[in-house]
Amino acid sequence: MTVSATLAANEAIAARRAAGQEVLALGFGEAGIPVHPLLSRHLGRAAAQSSYGPVAGIGTAREAAAGYWTRRGLPTEGDRVLLGPGSKPLLYALLHAAGGDVVLPKPAWVSYAAQSQLLGRDPIRVAVPEGEGGVPEAEAMDAAVREARAAGRNPRIVVVTLPDNPTGRLASEQSVKAMCEAARELDLVILADEIYRDLVFEEGSFPSPAAWAPERTVTTTSLSKNYALGGWRIGAARFPDSPLGDALRESVRGIASELWSSTPMPMQHAAAYAWSDPQELVDRVAAARHLHGSVATAVAELFAGAGCEVETPQGGFYVWPDFGPVRAVLAERWGVATSEDLARVLLDEFGVVVLPGTAFGDDPSSLTLRVAVPGIYGESDSERLAALLAPD
Ligand code: PLP
Repeated sequence: MTVSATLAANEAIAARRAAGQEVLALGFGEAGIPVHPLLSRHLGRAAAQSSYGPVAGIGTAREAAAGYWTRRGLPTEGDRVLLGPGSKPLLYALLHAAGGDVVLPKPAWVSYAAQSQLLGRDPIRVAVPEGEGGVPEAEAMDAAVREARAAGRNPRIVVVTLPDNPTGRLASEQSVKAMCEAARELDLVILADEIYRDLVFEEGSFPSPAAWAPERTVTTTSLSKNYALGGWRIGAARFPDSPLGDALRESVRGIASELWSSTPMPMQHAAAYAWSDPQELVDRVAAARHLHGSVATAVAELFAGAGCEVETPQGGFYVWPDFGPVRAVLAERWGVATSEDLARVLLDEFGVVVLPGTAFGDDPSSLTLRVAVPGIYGESDSERLAALLAPD
């Protein structure tokens, strides 16, 4: 294994800055919002909880996560929830527990494919519906899974990311529903990664796969994105109330007991507070969401103005421009033939760090880039955000 493309980009930025070079860091998705003092207080009060805790997580935090999902339209009991040190290890444990090949949208977040490869399985990639993000197109998924089975492979789980990283797009209700029906027909587990769910820019209904395929959908969340608490490492998984859900939950609990034993106890207490949706924190997430939305939309317009193909982002903090329409100019002026060439030229010539589309499984010849907008916030945005988020 090599270090994850996103984390490696972070290390490259740190090295360049240490050498005195200016870098515009648009590679990593982290908003850098200051920690709310109420959260720090909950964390501090729990610092003395130094023993190992239960593998699944403490009751209050699991109940709070259940309440979080129930208030978002997915009724949940605390015993359906498992906690982990971030959602990433929970995703890995679930891919392991599902016990077969992994179906991914193309493009998809870097780590699903890497985790699948850690398990010794090349992912099966399926294109997303035109203009949408995060969900494999249902008919194409059906064909790909049947073809893989005919070739002796064993697809068992499909991953969906809503809103999506890297495209910043949501999928339509119709596409999610069709994918859920196809997954049921094919007997696939659905992993719905909803880590950016609270950062959807427009209010309205949210197309959660668990609403249409409740018996087979595992949903995950964490505090890393909406509260910018990635370094605190706390996430949660919601398992279906079905025999399949029971089996997956017990298998993930077993894997967790051998990999991380228990989730850091002080973090669980702080998370129990955050997942109870106190108004102060809800307001803070709303302010951050507003900022991400306006900056991401403005950045997408800049790329469109420069001749790229780009969809307006709908949530999270990524923009996914395709430089295909200006390929001839890039080839002539900079010798660019792939998204990796393009990312390299941007770094070497302009000190701008972005990630090439290939890191997300896009075709090697495509000229897509993932641009993480928090790195672009200027002084005035940072000040505006700090003012909006001041606790008083
Ligand atoms: N899922 C997606 C789509 C992400 O973008 C990330 C982080 O970048 C994660 C999961 C991992 O988050 P966590 O910090 O909860 O492990």
